[in-house]
Amino acid sequence: MRFETRAIHDGQNPDQATGAVVVPVYQSSTYQQQAVGQHKGYEYSRTGNPTRQALEVALASLEEAKFGLAFASGVAATTAVFSLFKKGDHIIAGDDMYGGTYRLLEQVFKKWGLGVSYADVDKLQSFEKAVTNKTKLIWIETPTNPLLKIINIEKVAKIAHKKNALLVVDNTFASPYFQKPLPLGADIVVHSTTKYIAGHSDIIGGAIVVNDEKLYNDLKFYQNSAGAVPGPWDCWLALRGIKTLAVRMRAHEENAIYLAGYLSKHAKVSNVYYPGLKSGKNYALAREQMKGFSGMFSFELKGGRAAVRRLFANLKIFSLAESLGGVESLISYPAGMTHASMPEEERLKRGITDSLVRVSVGIENRIDLKQALAAALALV
Ligand SMILES: *Cc1c(COP(=O)(O)O)cnc(C)c1O
Repeated sequence: MRFETRAIHDGQNPDQATGAVVVPVYQSSTYQQQAVGQHKGYEYSRTGNPTRQALEVALASLEEAKFGLAFASGVAATTAVFSLFKKGDHIIAGDDMYGGTYRLLEQVFKKWGLGVSYADVDKLQSFEKAVTNKTKLIWIETPTNPLLKIINIEKVAKIAHKKNALLVVDNTFASPYFQKPLPLGADIVVHSTTKYIAGHSDIIGGAIVVNDEKLYNDLKFYQNSAGAVPGPWDCWLALRGIKTLAVRMRAHEENAIYLAGYLSKHAKVSNVYYPGLKSGKNYALAREQMKGFSGMFSFELKGGRAAVRRLFANLKIFSLAESLGGVESLISYPAGMTHASMPEEERLKRGITDSLVRVSVGIENRIDLKQALAAALALV
């Protein structure tokens, strides 16, 4: 079956006991056993819960994978992946990535003896150069944050596999509707389901999706042992979000194309970073490995910090907030928010200037969004 149908039905059969067409919230920590060790598949909700199970099947289905695992947050899912390794193992990560992943590597896993190096996401050779005989994992995010660069998944997978290392793709920005890294050669897909998958800015959640059974068993062992599982209510909300993922993603993309196009011609804007702009350097590769361009873009405003401050002070509809992927439009300032803790020199080297603004385009009416931007830009 096709994406839209699977999103609504996979893992979500009507409830056997009652016929309820929606998977119930099984708000129970434990399960009655008929005799010691005799039960209906569930013993304790850290190990397994029927609402979570439904979500895990649905997540695997979205990525056309065999196995899904749900976590309490995207960062908890990321932690589970890094925990597969031991002291002395080496990880390579792309240098344009989610700040929380960087923090986890630098401030948590390095302490435990994991070696970490960073590759320039603009140069495939830099991944190749970073490989050592201890390299066990390459971690990339594509499109990247906040500059929306596109990394060639197939080519990085080849670099990883040549050394028997795993490739992980954080697929949060694209969502499985627009990009499926596993068929392109990735071994593990990670999501912050907080973003597009749940899609309504109302939960924190994470996911891992894999095809390999051994990898699944190792990660499932970790999930149960470390215990960062989502509660049944959050799983239910994520499942509810998944049902409309396809229609939401189409609407996010349509609005993003419209607004990125508008801003790219605006006199007060110097650059727009959106993989869906035909003039951009990422367009061809995005067309090749993605089904669409998603709903995130960033742009540079002429006039630096002062201009950005005036824009934010006068902008209606768009909320100034971190996070992304919800139905409401959000705007944020990487230099002062997500990347504020990065030394200025490092930040500028990565292209995150004082003029850069990031937008998570919601699914409001696009004319209203354009008029809000136009009105605020007139006052910059
Ligand atoms: C938000 C985010 C994460 C972390 O997820 P949480 O749900 O906030 O823990 C990881 N990767 C990307 C790309 C994100 O946007």
